[in-house]
Amino acid sequence: MKTYATSQLIDGLRSGDKRLLAKAITLVESKKAEHRDQAEDLLKAIMPFTGNSIRIGITGVPGAGKSTFIENFGKFAIANGKKVAVLAVDPSSSLNKGSILGDKTRMEELAREKNAFIRPSPTSGFLGGIANATFESLLLCEAAGYDYILIETVGVGQSEVLVSDITDVFLFLKIIGGGDELQGIKRGVMEMVDLIFINKVEEENRLKAKNTKIELLRALHFMPSKEKDWKVPVFLGSALNNEGLDAVYEKVQEFIDLKVATSSFEETRKRQAEKRFDYWVKEYILQHTKSGKEGETQYDLHKKNASDLKVNPSSEAKVFVEKLLKK
Ligand code: GDP
Repeated sequence: MKTYATSQLIDGLRSGDKRLLAKAITLVESKKAEHRDQAEDLLKAIMPFTGNSIRIGITGVPGAGKSTFIENFGKFAIANGKKVAVLAVDPSSSLNKGSILGDKTRMEELAREKNAFIRPSPTSGFLGGIANATFESLLLCEAAGYDYILIETVGVGQSEVLVSDITDVFLFLKIIGGGDELQGIKRGVMEMVDLIFINKVEEENRLKAKNTKIELLRALHFMPSKEKDWKVPVFLGSALNNEGLDAVYEKVQEFIDLKVATSSFEETRKRQAEKRFDYWVKEYILQHTKSGKEGETQYDLHKKNASDLKVNPSSEAKVFVEKLLKK
């Protein structure tokens, strides 16, 4: 990786240079210690320019129409004078078998827009790490002046939790049929959503879609409400034909306005920041204990003890940490 001075990255991304924004993102995604140090400097410097976007999480099974939706929704936002960035949290990419979201050519038209920036999903690291790196990428996009940050993920449960930890509003894209289980409508995901969009609704299935909507509203009725004074709306539409996206756009704004008015907007972001703080405390403790020759040797030794299945991993971790934190 070619190195860039921190000031060069800052000036570049602040002046709208997408190539340098991409370089800055590569830097925050890196797990190398020296890159991390520079990433911290960079993030510190851009902090005053962050926080001003609407952060939208979007989920749905593969084929639900997420990229089609994002492409047309993004173009709609751009037509309204906004800048749009698209990031992804892809659980498959952390499992070392190629990614569900990243492999195909996606959102070509949106990618060509001057006011759009699309980042393929990170290809390494574990899911928690990917979500945290994605959050930092989001901050970089905000500093680069993007008004909407769309974060896409695929419906497998855990990734939704992580995405809802870095976004302000969570949108679920559903298609008719396919079965609730298959569509990830597990209680957990339903409790996280703020808006539902039933996609691919065209003339021949409109009636079915209306019934699905009634079922969904009924199910939602029994869920604890995530946001006070907010009933999760269910929209019908077609991402492909650009139908219903304007309604979602308006509703997102309404939702954000409500959250700001009730202070829940800031509160949620604060809770999210606390979670990230805890994540990084653990991460840095791990890095610290493993650093240096002695640390590495001890780490390998205790990890080996745990993997021999004769000792309890938590006891072994405790011994290791206590031994090394004294160093
Ligand atoms: P993703 O895997 O969730 O990102 O889904 P895609 O956006 O790649 O869409 C999967 C397929 O569904 C593609 O062939 C799209 O053209 C198609 N598709 C997406 N939205 C609609 C829609 O509103 N109506 C119809 N008929 N097809 C759609």
